[in-house]
Amino acid sequence: MRIVMLGLAGAGKGTQSQILKDELSLSLLSSGDLFRHHQNEGTELGMLAKNYMKNGQLVPDEITINMILDGVNDVGSGGFVLDGFPRTLSQAEALDKALTHDPIDCVVYIRVNEGELLIRLTDRLICRSCGAPYSKRILGPIKDCGKCGGQLYKREDDKPEVVKKRFKAQLPGLHQLVSYYSGQSKLVEVNGDQSVAEVSREALQASSEMMVGNPSK
Ligand SMILES: [Zn+2]
Repeated sequence: MRIVMLGLAGAGKGTQSQILKDELSLSLLSSGDLFRHHQNEGTELGMLAKNYMKNGQLVPDEITINMILDGVNDVGSGGFVLDGFPRTLSQAEALDKALTHDPIDCVVYIRVNEGELLIRLTDRLICRSCGAPYSKRILGPIKDCGKCGGQLYKREDDKPEVVKKRFKAQLPGLHQLVSYYSGQSKLVEVNGDQSVAEVSREALQASSEMMVGNPSK
């Protein structure tokens, strides 16, 4: 079974990918991990990507796609959950083209209310020492980490104007992908405004229903 995860950053894709991987005995292919792997190992692809990033340029699709396909090849004929890729329509088309013989079976879209997600993300404080996350709303005016006593701070990434900007950058691609995969009848939409356990229950159920018509996987 080959699954692609879709959703805004912060919607819980990473957590849900991990759960689907464990529950369905799949491999997890995270674009971020693959990227780091290639950079740390200093592979040709990793060095190419590094050069673009060093100059403040976007890494071309071709390089990213090759990193992903590299990961797909390592998995072999086994199933996987792909997290963080594709982000654009052209990446999705390139992925389909490369996987003609063993295509993506199911695309899980974790749909969240943007207003809710904005509140959830911008509410977060992080411990400077141990990285533990805290919610201002829940904890009130606290200053120190309950685990290690470290100082809590708001990450630059979690400031409302930054999060809004991130949404704005991600939404057009996300909407295109949703309609692309929906056109292929592969999309399952899951309500992401629920607890982690509820989201994963919905995701598991939806993806297994998707496989009913395709029992060979
Ligand atoms: Zn701490």
